[in-house]
Amino acid sequence: MEPETSWKILVADDSAISRRLLESVLERWGYQVISVQDGTRAWEILDQADAPRLAILDWMMPGLSGPEVCRLVREKACPQYTYLILLTARNDKADLIAGMEAGADDYLVKPFDTNELKVRLGPGRRIIQLQQELLHVQELLREQATRDALTKLWNRHAINEILARELARSFRENIPLGILMADIDRFKLVNDTYGHVSGDAVLQEIARRFLASSRPYDAVGRYGGEEFLLIMPGCDEQAALQTAERMREAVRQDPVELPGASVRVTTSFGVMSLPRGQEADAEAVIRIADEGLYQAKQAGRDRCVLVPYVETVSRAG
Ligand code: GH3
Ligand code: MG
Ligand code: MG
Repeated sequence: MEPETSWKILVADDSAISRRLLESVLERWGYQVISVQDGTRAWEILDQADAPRLAILDWMMPGLSGPEVCRLVREKACPQYTYLILLTARNDKADLIAGMEAGADDYLVKPFDTNELKVRLGPGRRIIQLQQELLHVQELLREQATRDALTKLWNRHAINEILARELARSFRENIPLGILMADIDRFKLVNDTYGHVSGDAVLQEIARRFLASSRPYDAVGRYGGEEFLLIMPGCDEQAALQTAERMREAVRQDPVELPGASVRVTTSFGVMSLPRGQEADAEAVIRIADEGLYQAKQAGRDRCVLVPYVETVSRAG
């Protein structure tokens, strides 16, 4: 449970007396009060990224009314919930219904009892807290579903989705798309010599080096056991080959230092780039990158082999 002092609350009321009363009791209860005197300003604040999640809104205000602010908040596509309490001199049942229909969570009639306000803020805090916990769990699940646990790179499912998306986007934006398929050379030997745990540590270090050699908009995924797929929007053949060479060098230049062992590893790369204006499916481009990887292995490993897109197409056709 967070301390009370971390709760921000918005007070919107055009009456200075009302505002001052609310500010003083809320601050006494540990809230951080943001107070405004009209509905337009209230909406501006609630529409901000780091907005308070609790709000007490007067009904009648210059600019937007309390119910209008409620409606705007509810229409907004925001994952974070805002708990809204309408505070008003209107005590008609019809007003209560209209206010709650506009999206208010609760309704208090002026002059209000401070103890009643205090306890009515309780459910609001519980809802917001519950929702924050839910969002947190959702984020963890998303992370688990898309990340490889060992290397923290995109997992196979996620990198395949990124590939499909980037293929469509590159075609739409008329830019080339670079694809690398990388595989650690003689990795079985690393496991056999140093053990599987050390093998895992080597995989993690190589993933780190690949990430360090990529750009923020490249996607690096673990495609299989010791195989990696890299997707590089905007990279033509030459740029893709350059990146592959840089990554190969980043792996081979320094051994991976493990407790009690210094492990030298190399990698092989299959390189391809889908030229601008070409429409291709994921399977086709992976097949081409795989072909390059196969050739790199055949030619002795620790190298990058580019397979031109057109050449393969004409060969296949
Ligand atoms: P090549 O140069 O032809 O790629 O030889 P290689 O030994 O790397 O290839 P091979 O496909 O024969 O062996 C891959 C090895 O990678 C075998 C497997 O045990 C190991 N491996 C796959 N996933 C993991 C992992 O998550 N952790 C560890 N430690 N080893 C893994
Ligand atoms: Mg291998
Ligand atoms: Mg392999």
